[in-house]
Amino acid sequence: MAPPKISKNFINGEWVEAVSGEAFENINPAQHQDLIGLFPRSSGEDVERAVTAARDAYRAWRLTPAPRRGEILYRAGRMLIERKEMIARDMAREMGKALEEARADVQEAIDMAFYMAGEGRRQFGQTTPSELPDKFCMTVRSPVGVCGLITPWNFPMAIPAWKLMPALICGNTVVLKPAEDTPLSAYNLVKVLEDAGIPRGVVNYVAGFGPEAGAPLVKHPLTRVISFTGSSEVGREVAQVCAGSFKHLCLEMGGKNVILVMEDADLELAVEGAVWGAFGTTGQRCTAASRLVIHKAVYRQFSEIFVERAKALRIGDPLDPRVQMGPLINQTQLETVDRYIAIGKNEGAKLLCGGHRLTGGAYDQGWFYAPTVFGDCSPQMRIAQEEIFGPVVALIPATDLDQAIEIGNNVVYGLSSSIYTADVNKAFRAMREMETGIFYVNASTIGAEIHLPFGGMKQTGNGHREAAVAALDVYSEWKTIYVDYSGKLQRAQIDQA
Ligand code: ADP
Repeated sequence: MAPPKISKNFINGEWVEAVSGEAFENINPAQHQDLIGLFPRSSGEDVERAVTAARDAYRAWRLTPAPRRGEILYRAGRMLIERKEMIARDMAREMGKALEEARADVQEAIDMAFYMAGEGRRQFGQTTPSELPDKFCMTVRSPVGVCGLITPWNFPMAIPAWKLMPALICGNTVVLKPAEDTPLSAYNLVKVLEDAGIPRGVVNYVAGFGPEAGAPLVKHPLTRVISFTGSSEVGREVAQVCAGSFKHLCLEMGGKNVILVMEDADLELAVEGAVWGAFGTTGQRCTAASRLVIHKAVYRQFSEIFVERAKALRIGDPLDPRVQMGPLINQTQLETVDRYIAIGKNEGAKLLCGGHRLTGGAYDQGWFYAPTVFGDCSPQMRIAQEEIFGPVVALIPATDLDQAIEIGNNVVYGLSSSIYTADVNKAFRAMREMETGIFYVNASTIGAEIHLPFGGMKQTGNGHREAAVAALDVYSEWKTIYVDYSGKLQRAQIDQA
């Protein structure tokens, strides 16, 4: 076990303690006695310093040519490759995802660094003819200013990277407030950016709790963009604060994602995808497949194999490479899952497996939970409507594709969905009808790639997308430029050439 790390905030290019001198503990969710480190418990004063540093650094960074900014991101990407294994181990230890998934999380940050570095030489605008002679029209992207980035614990490096890299390449400066459960992974990312030569004040990192450190960042008059990924409750609060001063706001919140399994599906493939979607990251992904809507003709067969596979998952310490599913992130999450198990039972859903905390031996040291499957659920049950964020799945029978689509869409969220079918007509109809920002055919609901837009419809978000070129729209404003070289007054819509 590595010794506890005493960590600091990164403000204006310096590693500093919280103004209060207070710190909080970062604990391994698989082994409670493993204290990973102490991180600064920041408050409004720390945020004030970080935002001021970011504001001061903004002018020079905004004027640094974007390809030069990109070179720093390229360097950061290369350093992430060199440090990948160490960072993945830190992440598995602090967050509890299986080592293989932790490596993938770091890989997303690497991919995003390189992708956005490339945007330093793109960030294409438009040129278009003017309606008047001797006049030139074009659009360019302009940075917005200081960005406040607030991130959750389930993708502790990928999500900070999804926000940092596009913000930086567009010429903004940032203050990152990572989740209190996973400050080490965010620290590792910021350290890489420091080592890659990011100028002082351009990237600032403030650890701490949501209400104490996140809220002041959202409220601060100098933060012009807020990008938030987390719960719908907090997202709503953040949106209300941002509305007061018309800040740019990108929200990425909950999901109640669905896999539709049709009667003609390759059932083996569908089960494999459903197990991965439901129990990968212990169900703690915003794209987790928490509902499986299955055609009645294959419902029994599918559920039998699915339950068998769920029971066979190897659960334990994520640092053990054989382990497929780690613990839940913390006690609160464990209590939430327990609460939903009780709700499901009361609603009359049939518990097919799991439904309890794992205990005995090493399990007593962590927040381990048995993969849980509820059968014969009706679409209106709370376990089929509300986001649980744990290894809990609701199986819902359907009579045909139309009904499956209706059930699939009948939730407030709209992040990801998928269909398993051998019928191309069904696949295309579902593709058109599903109200989700992400849709898969013959694949699970998880597995986004960084060069495609990521985000959800309905109450999952507020219409923005992360990743891909779409992310640049969050971190830049279009400036439309007209250059009149006629040497005379030309009036649009009035003068005819
Ligand atoms: P989760 O349930 O996934 O932990 P939260 O929405 O509670 O999601 O947290 C996501 C991020 O938002 C974390 O970094 C957390 O510290 C932060 N946060 C929580 N409350 C607030 C708040 N009132 N204002 C700003 N950020 C907050």
